[in-house]
Amino acid sequence: MKNSLGIYIHIPFCVRKCRYCDFLSGSAGKDVQEKYVEMLLREMEQYSEILKESHTETVFFGGGTPSILPGEELVRIMEKLYELGNVSQTAEISIEANPGTVTEEKLRLWKKAGINRVSFGLQSADNEELKRLGRIHTWEEFEENYHLARKCGFSNINVDLMSALPGQRVDTWRKTMEKVTVLKPEHISAYSLIIEEGTPFYDAYATHPELLPAEEEEREMYYETKTFLASKGYERYEISNYAKPGFECRHNLSYWERVDYLGLGLGAASLLGNERKSNQTDLSEYLKGNFEGERELLSDTGAMEEYFFLGLRKMKGVDWTPYQAQYVETVEKLVKEGLLERAGNYIRLTELGIDVSNYVLAEFLVE
Ligand code: SF4
Repeated sequence: MKNSLGIYIHIPFCVRKCRYCDFLSGSAGKDVQEKYVEMLLREMEQYSEILKESHTETVFFGGGTPSILPGEELVRIMEKLYELGNVSQTAEISIEANPGTVTEEKLRLWKKAGINRVSFGLQSADNEELKRLGRIHTWEEFEENYHLARKCGFSNINVDLMSALPGQRVDTWRKTMEKVTVLKPEHISAYSLIIEEGTPFYDAYATHPELLPAEEEEREMYYETKTFLASKGYERYEISNYAKPGFECRHNLSYWERVDYLGLGLGAASLLGNERKSNQTDLSEYLKGNFEGERELLSDTGAMEEYFFLGLRKMKGVDWTPYQAQYVETVEKLVKEGLLERAGNYIRLTELGIDVSNYVLAEFLVE
């Protein structure tokens, strides 16, 4: 039987850099973008054996802003993938799209390429908050793009949102969720802003935390997120991800379940068996065909830690019977503290455990 495989394709280009962003992304001209796609196809060819021997169940175009590429380039990438690999008839094929870079023509070409899930990076429905983030779009542009995607037949749409933004209040956060849920996307990701070093936000806010929502306000936003989205029929299936029944993101689930995935493109990470590898992060080197970055072979203990560290992010938890002997004391302690609960062979985070998930997950690191 063929192995299941997920494929991640990194498109590192953006119209301009958002003020909070530390992702591997930047602006680039058409010629660089074209050259990049060419190298991406060349890198893909290097994995033709793995692609042939596996069943590709999910493909995810992430970035950066994949929607910045001309639609024909996406078609080219997908055609190569269909040529080299066994892409399942029912594969979930997602693309991250930023409002302001989406057109009807692109949407039609994505459809033609087999893309069946669009993930919009909205972050906020408040234009002032968007401006402060340095986003290129307004709420109105997002709304227009969203309706266009529906018109072009996309029936699986995610919207990314972010709380704890500078100047955000609990009521503006609630308003964002209200406006978005009226549109009825199938999936919502809701993360809290993290101020990363090396970003303009770090310079502006790391020494002025009073400009960010206070801790109690942030907690309130967090509780509001889960109660509000639950009231609208979204099931929380991972710490920061909510979906209508049957619309959980299969690609992201495969990360948390440690299914093999192949990352293509600048800085992309892969897990193949017990090997983790990440690609070159220097664009000029990547464009010369130097794709390789770092490799790490996980020990059995490392793989076991990951099994819990990643798997427990899912609300349904993990089957812990394969490692019961190694973790009996940890699990007993966390159950006693009210942070974990047993459900048959599974262990999962309690409500309290989710609130302090970083602490709980760290307890499963033994090395
Ligand atoms: S669009 Fe996304 S990847 Fe690009 S700069 Fe903004 S946050 Fe970063």
